[in-house]
Amino acid sequence: MKKVLIVGSGPAGISAALYLARTKIDVTVVSTGHSQLERADKIENYFGFSEPISGKELLENGKKGAERLGVKFEYAEIVDLRLTADMKYEVSPHVGCNVYDCVLLATGSQRKTMNIKGINEFEGRGVSYCAVCDAFFYRGKQVVVIGDGDYALHEAEVLEQTSSEVTILTNGNTLKTKLTGNIRLNQKKICELSGSERLKSVRFEDGSVIKADGAFIAIGAAGSTELAKKLGAVIEGNHIKTDRSMASSIPGLYAAGDCTGGLLQISKAVSDGAYAAMGIIKYLKSDNDNNK
Ligand SMILES: Cc1cc2nc3c(=O)[nH]c(=O)nc-3n(C[C@H](O)[C@H](O)[C@H](O)COP(=O)(O)OP(=O)(O)OC[C@H]3O[C@@H](n4cnc5c(N)ncnc54)[C@H](O)[C@@H]3O)c2cc1C
Repeated sequence: MKKVLIVGSGPAGISAALYLARTKIDVTVVSTGHSQLERADKIENYFGFSEPISGKELLENGKKGAERLGVKFEYAEIVDLRLTADMKYEVSPHVGCNVYDCVLLATGSQRKTMNIKGINEFEGRGVSYCAVCDAFFYRGKQVVVIGDGDYALHEAEVLEQTSSEVTILTNGNTLKTKLTGNIRLNQKKICELSGSERLKSVRFEDGSVIKADGAFIAIGAAGSTELAKKLGAVIEGNHIKTDRSMASSIPGLYAAGDCTGGLLQISKAVSDGAYAAMGIIKYLKSDNDNNK
């Protein structure tokens, strides 16, 4: 039985799950449970409701419908995606089964950044959003990771393999995970990232300064573009580039909903999810035919 992992249980992920669950495909949906839709108080522009419905209720209804068809929901924050030599997908942390034939990223649009002076100014000149993509440029250098959860730790662990010193900066928050290896911790509130041509240091509100050749932003959960970038998928601006079947540039990796840009609305997310499911079914069928 072919296995598909859907990352995200918003309208895009659940819509795809509804289509896939009616085939002979094993579907697992994993999410951190924070859909943008939960923040919508009243939905009045989505088909089928004579009275407004809250985003939370609409989501719960969607999830129940998918569960009725046998979709499994798991709670986890995916921090890494890898392709194996035989074009299967491994995810960290492990959820459901060990490897998947296809992955659908339906993780919404939020790329979490923060309002700290210097972050935008030094993007691409010391500020990065993807450790596995950019760690190479910081070999033997001092870097910081800004964040306070599992995703920040994961990025720090990647950087630790190449950089001379890695410090997680929680920006005044308490670290929500356990440090590993030689990763350092600084919980002071950040005032600014500074430098000239490139980033050089981080200054804290208490006036202290630390050297930083690189600053990796890893706030909250890994966003879709960060996960897709790890595999080398083509990104346009802040969005994953897909074709009409919602396939990314990497075989077996699909994306749907807000993370692919365009109209950031439920109807588009649901439509993307349906197209992605159809694309995945076709892809898995051709994979089967090729193996005969
Ligand atoms: C306040 C507000 C009001 C809105 N009102 C309307 C409206 O009236 N009408 C309308 O059509 N649209 C509205 N929207 C927009 C609508 O909510 C979004 O377009 C829609 O939710 C997008 O669906 P999605 O599935 O792409 O992403 P989302 O609904 O954002 O779901 C993303 C999913 O990905 C998961 N996820 C993300 N990263 C990870 C990770 N690393 N590991 C595991 N899981 C992860 C999250 O837990 C979540 O389940 C509103 C949005 C907001 C914020």
